[in-house]
Amino acid sequence: MPQTTPPVLIAGAGPTGLTLATSLHLQGIPVRIIDKLPAPAAVSKALAVWSGSLEGFAGLGLVDDFLSAGIRLTRLHMGDSAHELADMEIAEGVDSAFPFTLILPQSHTEEILAGRLARAGVVVERGVELVDFHQIDDIVRATLRHPDGRDETLDVPFLAGCDGARSTVRHKLDIPFEGYTEPETFILSDTRMDGPLDPTCIYIWWSAKGSVALFPVVDGVWRTFAIRDEASGEEPPTLAEIQAHLDACGPRGVVAKDPTWLSAFRVNERLAAAYRRGRVFLAGDAAHIHSPAGGQGMNTGIQDALNLGWKIGAILSGRGDSEALLESYEAERRPVAREVVANAARTMHLGMTSHGQATRVVRDALLSIASRIPAVRRKIQVAMSETAIAYEAGPLYAAVHRISGGTGPAAGGRAKEVSREGWSLWSFLSATQHSLLLFGPPCAHADLRAAARRYGPALDVIDMGTEPEVLERYGFTAPGWVLVRPDQFVAARGGEGEMGVFDVYARLALDPAAVG
Ligand SMILES: Cc1cc2nc3c(=O)[nH]c(=O)nc-3n(C[C@H](O)[C@H](O)[C@H](O)COP(=O)(O)OP(=O)(O)OC[C@H]3O[C@@H](n4cnc5c(N)ncnc54)[C@H](O)[C@@H]3O)c2cc1C
Repeated sequence: MPQTTPPVLIAGAGPTGLTLATSLHLQGIPVRIIDKLPAPAAVSKALAVWSGSLEGFAGLGLVDDFLSAGIRLTRLHMGDSAHELADMEIAEGVDSAFPFTLILPQSHTEEILAGRLARAGVVVERGVELVDFHQIDDIVRATLRHPDGRDETLDVPFLAGCDGARSTVRHKLDIPFEGYTEPETFILSDTRMDGPLDPTCIYIWWSAKGSVALFPVVDGVWRTFAIRDEASGEEPPTLAEIQAHLDACGPRGVVAKDPTWLSAFRVNERLAAAYRRGRVFLAGDAAHIHSPAGGQGMNTGIQDALNLGWKIGAILSGRGDSEALLESYEAERRPVAREVVANAARTMHLGMTSHGQATRVVRDALLSIASRIPAVRRKIQVAMSETAIAYEAGPLYAAVHRISGGTGPAAGGRAKEVSREGWSLWSFLSATQHSLLLFGPPCAHADLRAAARRYGPALDVIDMGTEPEVLERYGFTAPGWVLVRPDQFVAARGGEGEMGVFDVYARLALDPAAVG
């Protein structure tokens, strides 16, 4: 089919690039998504899909595919030698439409996303590499190298660098990747396991000799993580090396066999100094990398893509203040990644690398106590679920925060699920449009309803009714409204008749763009 609008170019078809392509395609924005690898990677890599990502996939209409493919985690067991130190429920206290953690190998996550795109006619162009680009006014001129060696020149309105930790886009933009490389070498395996392991649980185990972490992958396969004893190169481990770590520090009676993946790697803790230059963006591992402790990398990349996707979509559909929308991406997402990188480093040092006797005693005591305090357990789980993220900075919130009051989810926080008698708010929130939640009787909010009609399909109006529990969930005692962005964050809120804040936000993200 001939294309009338130039497509957005997405370099990299990992989870970040595929999520961004899905978001743009659903908004009717043409995309080209390329990947230099001739075929998708078959290894499992990321395993945990947290609540925040599941909520996002629901907005893309994909969550059922994920739920039917993954395993729901139930518990995290931590122990030292023969003693169990802590046994925590997973996702305890997580307030979400999907209050659980799904285990699904990254290769399956990518399959689901790429499969949906392919069925909609968007095929990942494999073996095609972004080798160069430069910006001319509002155009990005990219050079793509095809598998037959041919170079193609392509002019696009936007380029998204979703091209992983060694990002060509980041290098070409000369954006520093600030941080450091951890000194230890990590080893991992995917193997079958004999032993008393529950396939819905994670095990993190220590001894004086080191530590191992065990994660269920799929169909009886387990991921083992450990740290090599001495800094002895980065050659992949043997099965015997993995078993030696399990025997020395793992839960009792666990035997690894039939490996499908054996790998050694060094961990980097790094954050790009900028996420954007003009009309070129970094997202996912191209913008932030950190230890797999906490399992946040892929999930953070998916959230980057959901944030960036609707903003590019709005601009190319002729809505909003393009500079404010573009600037808001880095302002909102970079502080989140800074926190994720710092937390992952802390978790790894506490969990995997603190083996001195004194440190072990302190850590074991802390864990044992912390795991018995519900508030502490919940805080850890909620942070990992990525449902408690709140955007504080950037042009979309600067004006709104000053004039938006009230309790409940504030501007910048995530929307909260409301479900009753088979009705779920989340089934109405779509990644392709803003949603205006109206609390109160049908006669309330006449001005807002009239204003909303101006935006057609870009703004969906959802009547939330008058039940006190529903109003309370959003912090209202009288009729009020909440405007939810396509990435499910609260854009603005107010009481009945408080139109000012709605208008301020609408000028930034919904109104037809000023021309000239
Ligand atoms: C062992 C391990 C376990 C992990 N566990 C978790 C976990 O449980 N939870 C979690 O959230 N994260 C986890 N992660 C991190 C997660 O795997 C990454 O964060 C995730 O892959 C990032 O996705 P991405 O799409 O940003 O980048 P990538 O997956 O790296 O994809 C980038 C793509 O860009 C392509 N590319 C590169 N350069 C070019 C170019 N010039 N032109 C075209 N294409 C290009 C590459 O071929 C690649 O396919 C884990 C990682 C590892 C290694």
